Amino acid sequence: MNDDKNTLDLNSLTNYETYEIKEAVSTINFCDVAALSKGDIIYECFKRRSVKTRIISDLQKGEVEYDGKKYDAWEWKAEILEVNDYKWDNGTYHKIRVDPHKKEQAYRVSNVPCQGQPKLYSEDIYKYLIGKEQIDLSYGYKMESIIDRIKGTIYGQAIGDALGLGTEGMTDEDMAWKYPNGIRHYSDIFQDRHRKRWKIGDWTDDTDMMLCIANAVIKDKGVNLTSIAQNFKDWANGEPMGIGENTYKVLMIGDYVEHPIDISKKVWEMSHQQSAANGGVMRTSIVGLFPKAVEECAANICRLTHYDPRCAGSCAIVSLLIHSLVYSNEKLSYHQIVDIGERYDSRIREYIDLSLNSDIRALELQDWDSVGYTLKTLSAGLWAYWNAKSFEDGLLSVVRAGGDADTNAAVACAILGAKYGFSSIPHEYTDGLLYKEQLEQVVNRMIELTK
Ligand SMILES: [Mg+2]
Repeated sequence: MNDDKNTLDLNSLTNYETYEIKEAVSTINFCDVAALSKGDIIYECFKRRSVKTRIISDLQKGEVEYDGKKYDAWEWKAEILEVNDYKWDNGTYHKIRVDPHKKEQAYRVSNVPCQGQPKLYSEDIYKYLIGKEQIDLSYGYKMESIIDRIKGTIYGQAIGDALGLGTEGMTDEDMAWKYPNGIRHYSDIFQDRHRKRWKIGDWTDDTDMMLCIANAVIKDKGVNLTSIAQNFKDWANGEPMGIGENTYKVLMIGDYVEHPIDISKKVWEMSHQQSAANGGVMRTSIVGLFPKAVEECAANICRLTHYDPRCAGSCAIVSLLIHSLVYSNEKLSYHQIVDIGERYDSRIREYIDLSLNSDIRALELQDWDSVGYTLKTLSAGLWAYWNAKSFEDGLLSVVRAGGDADTNAAVACAILGAKYGFSSIPHEYTDGLLYKEQLEQVVNRMIELTK
């Protein structure tokens, strides 16, 4: 038990959710917060999902001031042991914080008069203790929110890809001529020789390859690189619309499935270690949804076709960013992102820095010499992460920036889907996807896998 009287930096406590007691709490097993200590098991029931957690850090006690009076506030960290009947492998953490903006309730929560061992309170008793219809506890974790973000990531990828096709390879001049009012819907997509190969609302190779990874992982109930390589190869042997040059070169070599990473490395060496296309990062969002080993999987799945460390680093950043948003509702900081990049290649940092610029034109996404470069696409994704005001704002900004727009928007919108959730995406974009049902199946199977 930590009895320090230190004051919490309440302004830093931003990860909280609001729960209405009627909906959120049917029963709650809660003891006097002050009586909790490391190792205690807590059961909570919110949104009809029971969560069993064990406290793994000392409680941090602080004070909040409200209407001139001082009240107690608490913060702790707990390990999730079970969500419903599902066991989580170690390593998923759950922060529970008192909402600093609801100071009165914070006081009330910290003063539930129960001593010693946790006791079970019914909803009515709890209401009585709280004295209000509503309770505001802050949870960094929430199952509904995770499902919404998983769905948002997968749909976001497909939506960015499908609308981005509309400006793929275009400059500002092309777009001014073809979209005088600006592109907004799939139905606006200009039907030239390149674009008319796809039906309205279809996605391109970026999402096709993302689905190759998803389907292998769903089938194997785990990550098997040979299965993923096989799916890539089968896809390339079919009608791989929009397949990238490097990807095609690698996948077409005879014994690719047996030695995918060796072959990918050889092709990279043949380019004098220069080739660093965005074919790895365009499909990596799904890896961010894996429950564990995200960085290792992101780098290795990237190397199945793209061996360059700039490619593996781009994939690690995007996947870890998505994982953190989806499972912890935590936003990686600039320094955390730079640190990930530094583990792979020092050339990555320049593009992270570039992405901080609020003007997307600073990224020079239409620059002919660097269209399709992995770090350009990474910068577009990070630009949306820092600067987009909503899913739709980021989608339209990246699509209207032209260049390799389908890939840039696929990455950017997967990140925005993870950040804002499926529920933030306007229906016209989700409903307009041609193969929405296929996507929905993958979403459901991926959610099952994380349980
Ligand atoms: Mg594409």
